[in-house]
Amino acid sequence: MVEITGKTRLLGVIGHPVRHSFSPLMHNAALAEMGVDCSYVALPVKPDELEVAIAGFAAIELVGFNITIPHKQSILPLLTSVSEVAQAVGAVNTVWWMSEETGEPPGWRGTNTDVEGFLAPLQRMERDWNGAIAVVLGNGGAARAVVAGCAMLGCSEIHVVGRNAAKLEAFAASWSGSQYGKNLQVRTWEGLSDLMPKADLLVNTTPVGMAPKVEASPVDAEVMAKLKAGAIVYDLIYVPNPTRFLALAQERGAVAIDGLEMLVQQGAAALRIWTGREDVPVEIMGCVLRSHLGLS
Ligand code: NAP
Repeated sequence: MVEITGKTRLLGVIGHPVRHSFSPLMHNAALAEMGVDCSYVALPVKPDELEVAIAGFAAIELVGFNITIPHKQSILPLLTSVSEVAQAVGAVNTVWWMSEETGEPPGWRGTNTDVEGFLAPLQRMERDWNGAIAVVLGNGGAARAVVAGCAMLGCSEIHVVGRNAAKLEAFAASWSGSQYGKNLQVRTWEGLSDLMPKADLLVNTTPVGMAPKVEASPVDAEVMAKLKAGAIVYDLIYVPNPTRFLALAQERGAVAIDGLEMLVQQGAAALRIWTGREDVPVEIMGCVLRSHLGLS
């Protein structure tokens, strides 16, 4: 643990509720390992107090903060600038203070490291993702980061599967004109069986299979049996580990990726921004989380 002194700076995560967050655990472990004189805390901020909270954070010189529900979208107009990818996703999860010393107007800058977090395990695989076909289950907030990530990988088709036709249409429309939405198509669940034999990457972004309903899977064994051989199957859920969805995929011989990696990697990407350092101890962050969640 780094000793807290008068020089210690503050980082945090804002949300409402936010006390359940695992971020303080993994960030403080990483900060201690890196010897960075910062402390990371959970900061509850009610929706109607977001603007005043952000102004207060500037006044007390917070280094930066993460953002969780319900502020990921509503914070956008309160920031001095927002990265291109966060604008496309429509959500910010990481903010940092840019001082006038940089030559830029001082203010809060925002980006979305969920995209980088999602991509990290895929990019490590040394696969050629150009021209790959991705199937994304669900069309909520996390699906937006996944769609942007699949587009960055070079996927030639990105199929988003949802249960509500009107929401799917709105989802598709929200990407029109975006470079990340060029290869996007939306389908209802009835269309999933036809997509399985051509999917190189299948991603679950629905909460189906999360604890405590651990026996549920967004894809049943019969449909999973249609999955293309050698496909990568990715579940954004991290408890249980593996989910039923990933277990079914593994039975089919697929390579499985769980949501813990994304959680850790989005945090590591934020730490790189705040500290300006590349030597973020990703393994320690993962170990701390696994042990806390009883997964190791
Ligand atoms: P969200 O915005 O509420 O979106 C959930 C999506 O799942 C919606 O499209 C919803 O459909 C669909 N859905 C919900 N229940 C369903 C069901 N029974 N059958 C079929 N579809 C269903 O939530 P989110 O923020 O995207 O998060 C989704 C999941 O990703 C959660 O489990 C979350 O923990 C996980 N996540 C993990 C990470 C990570 O770092 N590993 C990061 C972000 C999120 P409708 O739109 O029709 O309601």
